[in-house]
Amino acid sequence: MNLKPNLKFIWLLALALLLGGCQSTYKSAPAPEIYLTDVKEMVYEPDVIGIQSVIETYDTYTSAIHYPVFGYQTIDAIVYDFIQNRHELFRQELAEILEANESKWPLELHMEYDIVYQTPRHAAILFKERKHLGSAQVSVNRFTFNFNFDTDKQLTLADLFENNASYLKIISELSYELLTEGDLIPSAVDMNWVKGGLSPHEKNYSNFLMQSNTLVLLFNKYQLGPAFIGAPSIEIPYESLNAYLPLKESLLNNFNGKISKLTSDPILSLDLEADNLEPASSEKAPESFYKKRIAITFDDGPHPIFTPIIVNTLGSYNAKATFFLLGNRIADYPDVAKHLLSEGHMIGNHSFSHPQLSRMSTEEILNEVTRTQNIIENATDFTPFLMRPPFGAINDVVLTTAQMPMILWSIDSEDWIYKDPDYIVNFVLDHAFDGAIIRLHDTLPNTTHAIGPMVEGLISAGYELVTVDKLLGITKDSADKNLRSFSRALK
Ligand code: ZN
Repeated sequence: MNLKPNLKFIWLLALALLLGGCQSTYKSAPAPEIYLTDVKEMVYEPDVIGIQSVIETYDTYTSAIHYPVFGYQTIDAIVYDFIQNRHELFRQELAEILEANESKWPLELHMEYDIVYQTPRHAAILFKERKHLGSAQVSVNRFTFNFNFDTDKQLTLADLFENNASYLKIISELSYELLTEGDLIPSAVDMNWVKGGLSPHEKNYSNFLMQSNTLVLLFNKYQLGPAFIGAPSIEIPYESLNAYLPLKESLLNNFNGKISKLTSDPILSLDLEADNLEPASSEKAPESFYKKRIAITFDDGPHPIFTPIIVNTLGSYNAKATFFLLGNRIADYPDVAKHLLSEGHMIGNHSFSHPQLSRMSTEEILNEVTRTQNIIENATDFTPFLMRPPFGAINDVVLTTAQMPMILWSIDSEDWIYKDPDYIVNFVLDHAFDGAIIRLHDTLPNTTHAIGPMVEGLISAGYELVTVDKLLGITKDSADKNLRSFSRALK
């Protein structure tokens, strides 16, 4: 490891501290220009909205920040200030960690966003921030913005309603009803905690998204209960809201224009509408343990050591999973592949050599797919009917050539980047939701360590772990009627 830049950094940090009047706490972080050496800034313009990306790679940390630019002065300034503040906060935390000499790698900041809903006059944006501050300190934060392009303004929740005198009280009551009736809060959770987090204060409802027909309310981790309930969100249809709390006519008109839901990236796009709450059930039986289902999937195997360990762990919880296998690995470990099926897991096709299929010709795609199908058939006597394209890279040619449903994912812990098993477990548990597809790799030691606690956490949160075909209701016979991609986005 090259220590030189670190020493330089610490020296300059000390200098910055001296110049700053020896403050023990940072009011503002040291100016990055002093010690940062390698800044890459990229600007690219997709069709509608500009995306600004700031990627930094240093010896001390890496950060990747993406944010939209709409072309409206005030709105763009709001987004820019928000990004600057989060970046600045991260730099302060970083400086404190380095000052205390507690640095454990990697220190990372990731900021991504989804434009969850957009019309020519309105946009609802969800920012997802992931911070890795060394050791097991990982925080995942969500921030929402709703913009009115007509007025070049950010909408607050109060702005939405015609007569907003008692909006917080009504929203609070509706939220409590939906959360408790919709099985989103397990009965083990202290109801006072829930009520406290839902009390009619503005800060409890600062995260919301206005979609075409529903108002989505997002709650933070620990707002309504302990960590295992994650960060719940609920949807209130405008129709039902209108009975108690009429929405402003002028705002509703914003949705009558050309409504376009951006689906630029199937992996990132939100699909909150598919997560409608179950109708209230009059009986809340404790034996309704497995009301929710989730599918764990593994890519890039089989691996001669890790795959059998994972299968063993899954077996001890009676959990089923799906393994998308690489043709060029099965040839070496046919028994590992066969064992997966005998343990009740599902296997799928992940191509032969892991190329980006969307860049290939029909012939090349066909070769990757059929070669793998043949190898799996020879090894296991089973013909896969599901495919996971490498990198999730698909287009129409891939879809029509492969002739299999393309299984993408909804939760990606990025286990190939994050080496810390605790991080992987926490990320999955934080983001788990009914119907989600989790993406992992059975070729990594960290994932192998993570799988036990992850499965245990999911089961105790009420999930049944099923194969992805079962989750999606796709059978061998119905596969050719489902030639499309499947993913459910992060909540
Ligand atoms: Zn892969």
